[in-house]
Amino acid sequence: MRILIIEDEHRIANSIKKGLEQENYAVDIAYDGNDGFDLAATEEYDVIILDLMLPGMDGTDICQSLRKNKVHTPILILTAKGQIQDKIKGLDNGADDYLTKPFSFEELLARIRALTRRPKTTLGEVLTVSDLIFNPKTFEVKRFGKLIKLSNKEFSLLEYLMRNKARILTKDQIIGHVWDYDADILPNTVEVYIRNLRNKIDLPFKKKKPLIITIRGFGYKIE
Ligand code: CA
Repeated sequence: MRILIIEDEHRIANSIKKGLEQENYAVDIAYDGNDGFDLAATEEYDVIILDLMLPGMDGTDICQSLRKNKVHTPILILTAKGQIQDKIKGLDNGADDYLTKPFSFEELLARIRALTRRPKTTLGEVLTVSDLIFNPKTFEVKRFGKLIKLSNKEFSLLEYLMRNKARILTKDQIIGHVWDYDADILPNTVEVYIRNLRNKIDLPFKKKKPLIITIRGFGYKIE
């Protein structure tokens, strides 16, 4: 899991980074709004922790602009106590959650876990790869018009593959995005889930080109 912290108070940003790294998250920091927006818009993160009062673009602007640019990464807003109006404005502008400073690190962790677990129903956009269609709003998967039943984990795995269409994903990347780090997952488990997915989305459509492709020694991709 990769997290971006956009926070101008170095002490806070650095201590969050240190704590998150101990929990095996990969963490980048931007100390001002413009850098933060650039990183958030160009790099791939699982969660963005966003301060509101920032030099350059402020937090609300960042939220709004990211959503306008179709960046749907979950955003957790950090606010100083009492800025209730800002909180509401942030949520109205596309943030997913907020935490009031000072906060406990345990609570921050719990909220990050919740945000990364949450099915990305807010994203709304229907994903397609060839004739395979994934609707994140209804959790419906169809191929060639036929409805396909998937388990929760298979949904997450397929969603991750489809959001990264044509990109090779390693087993470690897949584990990092689809499973929690505290879960005891072996690379072997990924193979099992990929096999299950294939049995559902490729095998029944023998006349069609298989969509899930194994790149030996590297990982998998869908295209
Ligand atoms: Ca600030």
